[in-house]
Amino acid sequence: MKIILLGAPGSGKGTQAQIICEKFKLPHISSGDIFRHNMSEKTSIGIIAKRYIDKGELVPDSVTIEMITKRLKESDCKNGYVLDGFPRTIAQAKQLDKYEKIDIVIELVIEADKLTQRLTGRRSCQECGAPYHISTLDGKTKCASCGGVLIQREDDKEETVKHRIEVYNMQTKPLSDYYRAEDLLVEVKGEGKVEDIYHQIEKELKR
Ligand code: AMP
Repeated sequence: MKIILLGAPGSGKGTQAQIICEKFKLPHISSGDIFRHNMSEKTSIGIIAKRYIDKGELVPDSVTIEMITKRLKESDCKNGYVLDGFPRTIAQAKQLDKYEKIDIVIELVIEADKLTQRLTGRRSCQECGAPYHISTLDGKTKCASCGGVLIQREDDKEETVKHRIEVYNMQTKPLSDYYRAEDLLVEVKGEGKVEDIYHQIEKELKR
C-alpha cells in the first residue's frame, strides 16, 4: 500500500508514520529525516538543505523531488511505503503522480494553536531523531531507545516554528484539495492519545 501522510508541522505525522510502518511492515520515507541525515553527513544535498531548513523554509522542489524519487526507486519501496513530509507543494504532488499510484492520503487535522505548543516543546534524539515532548520527559535528557542526547532542533525554536506554520498554510495546505479532488483524501483528527489516533488511521487503511 502506498500511503501519504499529510498534516501541519507538529500534527504528529512522524509518530503515526512510524506506527503504521511497524504494523504494516512498510518503509518510512520521511523527507525531513533524509534531509537531516544529509545535513549531518555534510553531503551536497545537506549543505543546500540546511540553508532553508534552519530558517523554516521549504527546500527547493528540484532538490527535494530528485532526492525522493531516487529513494522510491529502491527495492524496499516496491510494494508500498509511508510518505511523511512529501509532497509539500502542488508541484511535488504533480511530479509524484507522474510515476506513482498512491492508494490513500491521510491528513492529520489539528487546531493551529496546539501546533506551536507541540513544536516548541519538542526534543529530538541527536542520534536517531526519535521525538519527545518536555511535558512528558520528566527532566530526562537521553533517548529511551538509543541513549542519544536529546536536543531542540534549530527549526523547532519559536520564531522558526511560526514561519514553518505560515509556509505550511500557504504551500502545503492546498494539497488537501488536490487529493480530495482525486478522491484519495481521508481526514483524521490528530488530537488525543497516540494509540486512539492510530486506530482511526488503521480503520481507514483496512477499509
Ligand atoms: P519535517 O521533519 O518533515 O518537519 O521537515 C523538516 C524540514 O525539512 C522542513 O521544515 C523543510 O524545510 C524541509 N522539508 C522536508 N520535506 C520537504 C519537502 N517535501 N519539500 C521541501 N522541504 C522539505
